[in-house]
Amino acid sequence: MTARLIDGKAIAQQVRAEVARGVKSFQEKYGRVPGLHVVLAGNDSGSAVYVRGKEKAANEVGMLGKVHRLSESVSAEELLALVHSLNVDPTVDGILVQLPLPRGLPAQTIIEAVDPTKDVDGFHPLNVGSLWSALPGLRPCTPIGCMRLLREAGTPLEGAQALVIGRSHMVGKPMSGLLLHANATVTVAHSKTNDLAERCREADIVVAAIGRAKMIKGNWIKPGATVIDVGMNRDEAGKLCGDVEFETALTVADAITPVPGGVGPMTIAMLLENTLGAANARERAKSA
Ligand code: NAP
Repeated sequence: MTARLIDGKAIAQQVRAEVARGVKSFQEKYGRVPGLHVVLAGNDSGSAVYVRGKEKAANEVGMLGKVHRLSESVSAEELLALVHSLNVDPTVDGILVQLPLPRGLPAQTIIEAVDPTKDVDGFHPLNVGSLWSALPGLRPCTPIGCMRLLREAGTPLEGAQALVIGRSHMVGKPMSGLLLHANATVTVAHSKTNDLAERCREADIVVAAIGRAKMIKGNWIKPGATVIDVGMNRDEAGKLCGDVEFETALTVADAITPVPGGVGPMTIAMLLENTLGAANARERAKSA
């Protein structure tokens, strides 16, 4: 048996095309385009690549994508002043502060300073609370990308045993909440979990968000399971790989995401979807 590949690249392309159509109707209705503003503090080369990608993707779907670059030595006050100016700017629909911030800056204070209606990363405590209360709000991009992949793969969620490995605020925890609201029976594993292999063998859905190359072995996967691999690691040869041992899992699973080309492309696509959603919600609230 060879698993079906869940083609994140193609699905992300589909999401981008949907967003581009949505941007067009938004512009026709409100006479402006949605604006996504990314704040980059410091010189982290990885972050610089990510924010360029986000800016480019926003512009490609017809939004206004703009990066605000600040020096490594920016103070918390300067950063908060920029966030505040974006909060009150009516042309700004999405604000994303690229993490990690340079050492010494209070990341949580800055996350909490972002207007929750513009918090397209979904990290503000109000949005975190709305996720867990199943209320409307902005959800973190990577987990909603994973949910879209599961939907496109046709994986039944209701009543399924789902195992989320990793409990970070950005991926594991919100992913477990989204699966729970989709009526899966969810287990969350982490570095202190006993018998991870056994937990895997029981799971109809495995979402691996660990950050350890090929840690989840193919023979841990239940035959016919769906595997979503969020991990982005380098193997011994320096090649990009996921948290799951792909070649062996491929022979057991029903469907699996490759790395690269699985979850990765979905994150930016869902950021665009969140920005369009935030823009529409703000315009609707204005006329309500
Ligand atoms: P993180 O904050 O470092 O969290 C990693 C989680 O894995 C933690 O909860 C940790 O448990 C758990 N863990 C570590 N070792 C483990 C083990 N031996 N057994 C079971 N669980 C273990 O990482 P993250 O931000 O969630 O990211 C996870 C991975 O996804 C990384 O490779 C990252 O690069 C990738 N990622 C990809 C995208 C994308 O767009 N494709 C987006 C975000 C992240 P404890 O809580 O007990 O420490």
